[in-house]
Amino acid sequence: MTTLTDTRSRELHRRALRLLPGGVNSPVRAMRAIGREPIFIERGAGAELIDVDGNRYVDYVCSWGALIHGHAHPDVLAAIVEAAERGTGYGAPTPGEVALAEEITRRMPSVEMVRMTSSGTEAAMTAIRLARAATGREPLIKFAGAYHGHVDGLLVQAGSGLATQGLPASPGVPSAVAAATVVVPWNDRHALIAATEQVRAAAIIAEPLPANMGLVPAQEGFPELLRERADASGALLVLDEVISGFRVDRGGALQLRGIQGDLTIMGKVIGGGLPAGAVGGRAELMRMLAPAGEVYQAGTLSGNPLAVAAGLAALELLDEAAYARLGDLTARLADGLREAAGARPVQVPWRPGLLTVFFSERPVQSLADATACDHDAHAAWCRALLARGVYPPPSQFEAWFPSLAHTEEQIERTLDAAAAAFAGIEESLS
Ligand SMILES: *Cc1c(COP(=O)(O)O)cnc(C)c1O
Repeated sequence: MTTLTDTRSRELHRRALRLLPGGVNSPVRAMRAIGREPIFIERGAGAELIDVDGNRYVDYVCSWGALIHGHAHPDVLAAIVEAAERGTGYGAPTPGEVALAEEITRRMPSVEMVRMTSSGTEAAMTAIRLARAATGREPLIKFAGAYHGHVDGLLVQAGSGLATQGLPASPGVPSAVAAATVVVPWNDRHALIAATEQVRAAAIIAEPLPANMGLVPAQEGFPELLRERADASGALLVLDEVISGFRVDRGGALQLRGIQGDLTIMGKVIGGGLPAGAVGGRAELMRMLAPAGEVYQAGTLSGNPLAVAAGLAALELLDEAAYARLGDLTARLADGLREAAGARPVQVPWRPGLLTVFFSERPVQSLADATACDHDAHAAWCRALLARGVYPPPSQFEAWFPSLAHTEEQIERTLDAAAAAFAGIEESLS
């Protein structure tokens, strides 16, 4: 069996375990879901990662989707360096923030004004505070398996039955806060209708293209239903485009279908690989934020000049041709992975720039379906991919992020590794 030389990663992990909880600063990196220790990274170049032991991988995490142009893209890098030479931040407004807001509002018709943050989590916090202030209501409706950052009120799981009051998904989340969130199964029309009839919610919050239980696109008509039920119940529709925004299309994921959120949460791609998030929406809602209005929100490093420069440089490279290329590349990868699986039943839903390989006999439509996948076989496959120079997202509940830096040769190499890894699963599990 092919194995990975990871002496230096193991040594760093041992040191890290004494200093960082679980040895990492964010949980999925620890690779526990695939039953191995984390791999410490030395550097990245294009679509390639090089670890501290000198192993090279074709990278499909790409900083969890933030790096749509791959690692250290020369234009993005030049923008960051140029900004840094003028100082790393001032706690005062800069021209770049105006330029980035202009670029975002051009790309997202539903977004008339923007507030930058340093993370998607903060943007989600701000969106729900705004929605509550605007509607005078407190409850939220969210979907099982959707992730909107580690905000208390959104770190909530479904209780028993459909559309029940939320339960804390983590110790430390107050039960009263969790109870203000109602969790509905994704793609379940009846549960959504029931929830919006029973609860006077401030907001329905949804990933238009959920990618945090693996990629689970909406069924036909479900996005339209989101908008319809928000309007019918007086709730705001908050679209979390932290992953999907600027990735599958030049703006939002539902733009082509004419579905607009009242508020939109952004992150990942808009920071060009540096820490950034944003909330945007209709002007009359956004003007409720301090200092224009009374809803308080602030951030020492919000709209940081380096992050803004990186985000602008990344967006400038994202033209129609870029999305067409990303779509072709992802289609080739998705088709190839399905073929590479051979007799093993897999589902490979994809959209430009993201896909998931579900170890499942039937299509995955919900968190329950994603949970029912063969996670042991998936884990064995991921370990084998790593040993063969491919770095997949190390969990069945995540999406692969092919980037514009991935070359055809790297895709073909990935497919060869994938086929070999599929072939070895039984042996490694026995
Ligand atoms: C990553 C993510 C977030 C949280 O963003 P952070 O920058 O990690 O706080 C929120 N929503 C979605 C859909 C995400 O994928």
